Parts: sequence; structure tokens; C-alpha cells
Amino acid sequence: MHISNLFNRKKAVISFEIFPPKPDYPIETIYKTLEKLKDLSPDFISVTYGAGGSNRERTVEIASTVKNKYDIECLSHLTCVCSSQADIDIVLDDLKRNNIENVLALRGDIPQGYDANEAFMEYQYAANLISHIKAKTDFCIAAAAYPEGHIESNDLDKDIEYLKQKVDVGVDFLITQLFFDNALFYSFREKVLKADITVPISIGIMPVLNVNQIKRITTLCGAAIPTKLAHIMAKYGDHKDDFEKAGIEYASSQVEDLLHNNVDGIHLYTMNKSKQIKQIMHHCGLVT
Ligand code: FAD
Repeated sequence: MHISNLFNRKKAVISFEIFPPKPDYPIETIYKTLEKLKDLSPDFISVTYGAGGSNRERTVEIASTVKNKYDIECLSHLTCVCSSQADIDIVLDDLKRNNIENVLALRGDIPQGYDANEAFMEYQYAANLISHIKAKTDFCIAAAAYPEGHIESNDLDKDIEYLKQKVDVGVDFLITQLFFDNALFYSFREKVLKADITVPISIGIMPVLNVNQIKRITTLCGAAIPTKLAHIMAKYGDHKDDFEKAGIEYASSQVEDLLHNNVDGIHLYTMNKSKQIKQIMHHCGLVT
């Protein structure tokens, strides 16, 4: 089924993101997590993809298991950096053969050991990949959106202009980068509507469970840390269990507020953890 159809109903669409275990870890570890995540009845699950195609067989294998064994709709991520059209077509064919109908089309970041000239030889931006998928297939296509602007961009208006170009070439719905301050999203939503971007937007939420994780994430994506979260970091930085509890409460209150403000969907970055995701779902009344 095309995931875009799920957004036609009144309720927010609830989804989870998982990533394939590294090649030296047994793939079964993710299936143990999936067993537990499926009990939370998500509307769909997305599976990340290693930029440049690293670990790509595992993405397809896990996506196929989500869809064909667990009978949960699946969104398979796909990046175009360091990839030729032939590479992309191989993955798309593989996904099709495995009954996957939804793709999150991304540019990806340049992997170590490549320079920009090699990395962007055939596809420079996600929009190029989206045009390619749209022209050759009937996949439902999702793309990434950045409420605080993409880390490489220092002009949010320009970033939204590029987002509009991306949507216009064939995007069915968007998923946002994580953020910790809902006010930033509400202001982004207004700007996006003004730019005539009307596709549904699902909100990416990452529960922060320890202080190192939040430091790593903010370095990678540049998300702003609101005062309330900074207090949690200062107060519980050295207390693992208390930090995790406060992080789960923080994410839960973010989700509750977003639902109250009628967002189209919530996409929980699970980090392959089920216990904490279950707690957030309970807290927000999304599961009994
Ligand atoms: P684009 O939309 O191409 O944008 C990249 C940059 O180029 C932006 O700064 C934009 O402003 C600029 N730009 C766009 N068009 C133009 C133009 N015409 N002219 C000039 N500048 C332009 N990465 C992975 O490797 N694997 C994953 O599975 C993965 N999943 C993700 C899921 C989500 C929900 C999100 C938000 C990100 C994910 N990423 C993943 C990270 C993503 O690959 C990076 O953020 C990457 O840097 C940008 O990808 P994009 O598709 O947003 O790029």
C-alpha cells in the first residue's frame, strides 16, 4: 500500500524508524526488537540505508521482513550519494521484487574516503533521485525536511525553496529531521505552507536517553537545545537512569504537544530500542 494514503484519515499517522545492525552483528538482533515494536501497532516502519550503499542488502532484507513477515507497511530509505543510476535501479528492482512500495529518497552525506566530485557524479541532490524514481517507477516517494534548516544551509528560506523543488518533482509526503523545540516546527510549518508545500509532514522525534547521544546528534544535525532540555542535561548528565527517564518524559511531552497541534504524523526514531518507545506510546495514549 502507498503510505501517502494513510494520511487521508483524521488520526495522526504513527511510525517508527529502525536501522540495520552493523555487518558484524547478527541480523536477528533487529528481528527481536521488531517482535516487540509490532505489538505497538505502528502504521508503518522505515528502515535506514547506509549512504553510498554500504550494508544495502540488509536494508532490503529487513524492509522485506517488516512487510512480508510482520505485515507492517514499510518505507525503505535510499540515498543517491556515490551511486550511479544503475546502482539505484538495482536497489529499486530489489525492493519491488520484495513487495516494497514506499521509498524515502535522500541525497545522503559523503562517506569517508570520497570527495564531493566523486560523490555527486550522477546525482547532486535528492531532487535528482526523486525525478529518477518518479519517471521510472510507481513507488510512493517520501523526502526529508529540516525545520531548523539543513546543516549545510545557512538560509532557511533558501532551504525551503529547495524543499519546494524537491516536492514538485514527485514527493508524496515529508519526514522531518529531529528537533527539540516544537515552536521551531510550528514556525517552519507556516513558512512551508506559504511556499505552497501542501504534502503531509510527519514529525521525526528522537528520545534522548543519555548525554553523549544528545551531544553527538546536535553536532551532526545542528538541532537547537531549549533551556528545559539543557537543564535535564545539567541535572542528570551523570545519572544514567534518571537521564533516561527525563528524556522519555521530554519526548512524550513533545509528542503530546505536536498531536494537540494537529500534526499529520509522528515518526519515532527508535534507535532499535523497544522498551523506551513503548513507554512514550503509553505516556501519549497511543497504545493501551
Ligand atoms: P537534499 O534535499 O538534496 O539537500 C541537501 C542540501 O543541498 C541542503 O543543504 C539543501 O539546502 C541543498 N540543496 C538542495 N537542492 C539544491 C539546489 N538545487 N541548489 C543548491 N543547493 C541545494 N542519511 C543516510 O545516509 N541514510 C538514511 O537512511 C537517512 N535517513 C534519513 C531520514 C530522515 C527523516 C532525515 C531527515 C535524514 C536522513 N538521512 C539519512 C540524512 C540525509 O541523508 C542528510 O541529511 C543529507 O545531508 C541530506 O539529504 P537530503 O535528502 O535532505 O538532501
